[in-house]
Amino acid sequence: MSVAEKGSEMVERVKFVVSVIVWPGLLATALLLTSWGMTTETPILLFNLIYVSFALTVGALERFMPYEVSWLKDDKQTFANLAHTLLSKGLVQVLIVVTTIVGIADAVQPAAGSTEGLWPGDWPMVLQVVLGLFIAEFGLYWAHRLAHEFPFLWRFHAVHHSVTRLWFINTGRFHFVDSIFSIVMSQPLLFLLGAPMEVFLWVSAFTAFVGVLTHCNIETRTGVLNYVLNTPRLHRWHHSMAPEEGNTNYGENLMVWDLIFGTYFDADRRPPAEIGIEGPMPASFAGQLFQPFKKEGRQEIPLS
Ligand SMILES: [Zn+2]
Repeated sequence: MSVAEKGSEMVERVKFVVSVIVWPGLLATALLLTSWGMTTETPILLFNLIYVSFALTVGALERFMPYEVSWLKDDKQTFANLAHTLLSKGLVQVLIVVTTIVGIADAVQPAAGSTEGLWPGDWPMVLQVVLGLFIAEFGLYWAHRLAHEFPFLWRFHAVHHSVTRLWFINTGRFHFVDSIFSIVMSQPLLFLLGAPMEVFLWVSAFTAFVGVLTHCNIETRTGVLNYVLNTPRLHRWHHSMAPEEGNTNYGENLMVWDLIFGTYFDADRRPPAEIGIEGPMPASFAGQLFQPFKKEGRQEIPLS
């Protein structure tokens, strides 16, 4: 074997090992850094720095070991993807500010750590966050599933599904109406149960990291994790053009509700590289914002 062959065999071995550890490794590192950030004076600033560094690391790994090489090609949607992301994130911020100003949070939330009310504030924070995720996911699951089953909602959700490549940049590509619907379906459940603000922050942080990790175009081997968390493998099926594959795996972070409600899907083959939707989608950000409200050329639900 020549030196060059030995070298390339070595690279392949490294890639294999990385493909096993990269997904849980990145998530664990991001969560550890976030938990450190939360003990400092500037948790929000640090979270944003951690999030951006995390996303850029994922972006670099996509170049080093892509799952699908054809997805590395520019689809001219980067601006639209980022614009949707910023608009959706901006709205979330506004909603948080409005909620705080109106005082809804204070009105319905017992103090953090309180054992009054329904929320088990005396549990260790890790368990409270797991419970928070479990409850928020119930709302996220149904918001997502309804978006695939009701024509009116699908018109908005189709913006997310119209991409022809999956990569970290289209994590936040959601029409703002779609984003609002998900928030309204998931956050009030936690509020009504009296979850403390720390649980909200952790659920948001976890969702942010898992979102990037489910959309990433990195070669990953996630094994048994596919039954617990929403992995790239499961989400690639969800972006399939075939309705029997696409109308599955609705969980945003956890797969538990898909397993319970019978929409979990994984098959013993490679998820499709050809993804997207059948109908037309304007190329521009503004066009994508207005399309769901127009009668002409709007999206029809792909029925199985
Ligand atoms: Zn979807």
